[in-house]
Amino acid sequence: MLTIIGTGLAGYTVAKEFRKLDKTTPLRLITSDDGCFYSKPMLSNALAQNKTPASLATYSAEQMAEQFQLEILTHTQVVQVQPSTRQLQLAEGKTLSYDRLVFANGAAQVRSHLEGEAAKQIISINDLQDYQSFRDKLQNVKRVTILGAGLIGCEFANDLCSVGISVQIIDFATYPLSRLLPTTMGSILKNALTSLGVDWHFGRVIKRIENIEQQGYRLFFSDQEFLETDLVLSAIGLRPRTELAAQAGLAVKQGISVNRYLQSSDPHIYALGDCAEVEGLVLPYILPLMNAARALAKTLAGQQTAVEYPAMPIVVKTPVCPTVISPPRMGAVGSWEFEGNGNDIKALFYSPQRELLGCVLMGKTTSERLALTKILPAFF
Ligand code: FAD
Repeated sequence: MLTIIGTGLAGYTVAKEFRKLDKTTPLRLITSDDGCFYSKPMLSNALAQNKTPASLATYSAEQMAEQFQLEILTHTQVVQVQPSTRQLQLAEGKTLSYDRLVFANGAAQVRSHLEGEAAKQIISINDLQDYQSFRDKLQNVKRVTILGAGLIGCEFANDLCSVGISVQIIDFATYPLSRLLPTTMGSILKNALTSLGVDWHFGRVIKRIENIEQQGYRLFFSDQEFLETDLVLSAIGLRPRTELAAQAGLAVKQGISVNRYLQSSDPHIYALGDCAEVEGLVLPYILPLMNAARALAKTLAGQQTAVEYPAMPIVVKTPVCPTVISPPRMGAVGSWEFEGNGNDIKALFYSPQRELLGCVLMGKTTSERLALTKILPAFF
């Protein structure tokens, strides 16, 4: 029995790819959610398109099971993995055996540890259920405050503004996407979102959050100044879910450590997607997991295949400022050069030997994505 923990894009893609190669080996997927198939990136631009959770869920678990001959256990949490006996334990007390196991259990939102009785009411959006409760809470809401000016924070800001909700963003950095963009490009994105009405609080942190009597929240900065809002959305980052793997004795660093065959420190256990650290890289995006799923499916079907990571640009879903980012690798030596005018500008990161190591494309220059991707260096 091949067993996969998780029915996100990583779990389902490896299952689908495996079924193309092997139609008979029993394949079991276990998920703590309802197992609906949906595209998670759509969560941060769904309001503008008036997408409901039901319309985002393109297939139910039953439909996926039938289409790909899978056994899917929904609303079922795996609480322990025992590599020595090749068994896993479920929250309901049952024990299941596996021959080979794939961790595809994703990443969890990083919680902000704020003082105040309302801190528990901060929401975050990392799956369809979260999106449902976000939509429910948005009824009668005029102002949303987002904690974190990263990719997901900026995308939700654009989406909320497009349905007439006013947005404030708080971040201790000095401009949006500060870990991915050079300052010049960050300023362009900032100005574009400002034109939609986004109000920024950079270089600041929230310390305490309290309820306001009728409705809403008061957020206190560390200097005791405060702002008021109707809803607080945390977008301060994701952390790979590694607890199960660590308890099972697998090697874990930032994510579950795997080699280019997506194999963990136990030869019968693999990992991919947001939970995995592949050869030291945690890349919590769709393109890396798709490449990993295709390679892993082949390996599981008997054709040992190492994953390849070409340059994989990230498309930022901020329609007010179309942006594509292929950041240089951490610690890369070089400098940014800028070409273009207004919002149609590209930034190219060159090594001292004039090798192109990274790029950011904005506005009309995003049409150069495919051409530049071919030139950018592969990870491996
Ligand atoms: P998940 O989708 O999180 O799936 C994890 C699965 O594991 C779930 O089924 C869960 O129920 C299950 N699970 C977890 N623990 C257990 C357990 N103990 N027992 C049983 N089941 C368990 N990436 C891009 O490339 N482009 C984008 O534009 C983009 N936009 C995004 C927007 C948002 C709002 C978010 C949150 C992410 C975005 N991403 C984007 C990232 C991308 O969506 C993720 O990289 C990808 O969806 C991760 O898929 P996954 O299958 O690894 O994890």
